[in-house]
Amino acid sequence: MAFEIPKHYISLDKALAEVFGNRAAVAQADKVLGGDINQAYGLTLTDGTHVFLKTNRKENAPFFTAEAAGLAAIASTGAISTPRVLCSGMDCGKLGGAFLLMEFLEEKGRIADYWEVFAHQLADMHLADTDAFTTEGAFGFWQDNFIGAGVQKNTARSLWVDFFRDCRLRPQLQQASGYLDAEDQKAAERLLDRLGDILVEPKRPSLLHGDLWAGNFVTGKDGKAWLIDPAAYVGHAEADLAMTELFGGFPQKFYDAYREAGNMQEGYAERKGLYNLYHLLNHLNLFGRAYLGSVKRAIREYAFR
Ligand code: ADP
Repeated sequence: MAFEIPKHYISLDKALAEVFGNRAAVAQADKVLGGDINQAYGLTLTDGTHVFLKTNRKENAPFFTAEAAGLAAIASTGAISTPRVLCSGMDCGKLGGAFLLMEFLEEKGRIADYWEVFAHQLADMHLADTDAFTTEGAFGFWQDNFIGAGVQKNTARSLWVDFFRDCRLRPQLQQASGYLDAEDQKAAERLLDRLGDILVEPKRPSLLHGDLWAGNFVTGKDGKAWLIDPAAYVGHAEADLAMTELFGGFPQKFYDAYREAGNMQEGYAERKGLYNLYHLLNHLNLFGRAYLGSVKRAIREYAFR
């Protein structure tokens, strides 16, 4: 398993010159819509090559370092495709801040068994060896990263239940304390105390995409799903599956095919709402009160179940 952490450049021109040769220049820049954190562009170079560029303010450069590390980790499993990251950099003159340059994915039609293949590839990623991704304990990641624009802590833990409590629920609950009344806070404490009664340890730790909703995969030139924009870490594969169900879900054939791969554990349906409480809390913290009702319901449901 090899990691390729991309080189960092101090200007887009320098980056293009080194990656594509001295005469490379941008002929056209088209804004790409759809992301909610960064500015995105499809660049056409003078030789016709397409590249995908993301930019953000200087202080958000860590978003790109983390994204590149997550994509490198996923790519290293060889299980599912991700766009190749070409380089990262900081261009305060032309771009006004940090950038990430990657392969442009030309969307093609989907293959007939798109969802089944996607499910099998995701399961293969979840079954890949994870030793290279954590520092000491089985769960975590070798660096903190971001879930949307929120910080995602990845300090290593030996048990999944400890990781999910210390690095997922507790930090988000603390950040959301201003939204939660005294009763919610008591329920939240009770929930954290009894997490071990609700969650199970996985059969094996898995590398997760970490933010697997419908906006974070695209169809590549092979007609299959390619993963983009990860918040990668080593955890319980169920957390990835749960996230796919949070905003509407994928087609049933995806779940049936995933189940065939033999990596599911009894009782997933009972736990998925708890995994998604993490994402709801993150949405509450990033986007505000619209998510408060769902957060309160989930806290109570799991605290008193
Ligand atoms: P953000 O980090 O702001 O959420 P995304 O990574 O989700 O941005 O990218 C924004 C949009 O750009 C996506 O919805 C997707 O359609 C498109 N996109 C992402 N990566 C690529 C790529 N490598 N090539 C072409 N289009 C891409």
